[in-house]
Amino acid sequence: MSRVIIIGCGGVAQVAIHKCCQLDSVFTDLCIASRTIEKCDKVKKELEGKTKTNITTCKIDTNNFDELVKLFKEYKPEIVMNLGMPYQNLIIMDACLECNCHYLDTAAYEPEDVNEPNWRKDYERRVKEKNFTAYFDYKYQWEYDKKFKEKGLIALLGCGFDPGVTQAYVAYAKKHEFDRIDTLDILDCNGGDHGYPFATNFNPEINLREVSSEGAYYENGKWISVPAMSIKKEYNFDGVGMKDMYLLHHEEIESIAKNYPEIKRIKFYMTFGESYLRHMNCLENVGLLSTKAIDFNGQKIVPIQFLKALLPDPASLGPRTHGKTNIGCIFRGVKDGKEKTYYIYNMCDHQESYKEVGSQAVSYTTGVPAMCGAMLILKKIWTTPGSKTVEEFDPDPFIEALDKYGLPKTESYNPVMVD
Ligand code: NDP
Repeated sequence: MSRVIIIGCGGVAQVAIHKCCQLDSVFTDLCIASRTIEKCDKVKKELEGKTKTNITTCKIDTNNFDELVKLFKEYKPEIVMNLGMPYQNLIIMDACLECNCHYLDTAAYEPEDVNEPNWRKDYERRVKEKNFTAYFDYKYQWEYDKKFKEKGLIALLGCGFDPGVTQAYVAYAKKHEFDRIDTLDILDCNGGDHGYPFATNFNPEINLREVSSEGAYYENGKWISVPAMSIKKEYNFDGVGMKDMYLLHHEEIESIAKNYPEIKRIKFYMTFGESYLRHMNCLENVGLLSTKAIDFNGQKIVPIQFLKALLPDPASLGPRTHGKTNIGCIFRGVKDGKEKTYYIYNMCDHQESYKEVGSQAVSYTTGVPAMCGAMLILKKIWTTPGSKTVEEFDPDPFIEALDKYGLPKTESYNPVMVD
């Protein structure tokens, strides 16, 4: 018996809700709390009669601490799964501490307005000191470690696919395959086609902010920054074929570098098609990716939020997306004194995901790990309190759960290396 609140009812949350309801012996009581209650009610209606999970819904504004505390005190969840926006991670973590419940999310905190003066000052100092240029940064959530530990609670950070499963792959590789890992390349390929000239597969604001930022990788204890999309490689992905991929900064690089200091170089690549990049460059050039509010006919408008309203909702892409995703990690290192390479990845089919839960594979590959992480906390298999990323927990039960609940691993002991 468990009581769980899922915050958000977008692409990722809808998959997690479906998966929790499939596992109704663990997720017995579920509250879907989000901004647009109609979306929550629609999902509840779709699932009723197909699951034993008792579903309730609630309208909430996650910017409002008092509203969060009121809901958490009334519902008394054991865990809150924050599958909304990363802008509200800290406020939701505070509410979890106040109400003594575990916390889980799928993206590192970043501020909604990156021009907010106090945050900007801190950011510019970090860029100067560490050459670490991303807007997202685990520092803010790691600062909660002591508070969660003191209460015996877990804040599980970034429990989607990447971040999330990619870090479990690192912990798994270190546990079973290597005495020492030297290099890591994380490869995120979406070979899916939704038929639109331009659409993002997850929240457009977060996606476009991530992709249009400077690229970066970690080498010998230092961040190396490169202009956005300036490092391009080709890779032949299992289940997908040959794709162009570009070096990006991604949040798990920061936590893996901290937790596995032996790894000398960590890089992250994501595939993009020509059309996506052309549209993104154009949108950036005309100012539509800006997070700074402008006055328009007496109204304040944040350009990237306006753009989000124009683009297809990622949660609506399911029926029209065909093809597969392939996400995984390629390692080089040493086992028993011998040099070795190893590749562990998952392939996920957009249409199969749609048939199972009504969503495309990018939402599926994020919502399933979120459900698995919550399940391990509820079953008391992952018990270490604190504010932690996925690689800090035993990877075996997580990888086993992913194998069982829809994201099985494939392994290769002779992979084509990126460099
Ligand atoms: P969506 O935009 O589809 O969903 C976001 C949901 O949050 C919506 O239901 C939205 O409400 C709700 N929401 C936003 N602001 C508020 C608020 N102030 N109060 C209450 N509810 C709010 O995003 P996705 O589902 O695509 O992504 C969800 C998260 O998952 C993001 O943080 C994203 O970065 C992360 N992600 C992580 C991945 C990983 O592998 N780790 C991969 C993909 C995504 P409304 O319905 O009214 O808009």
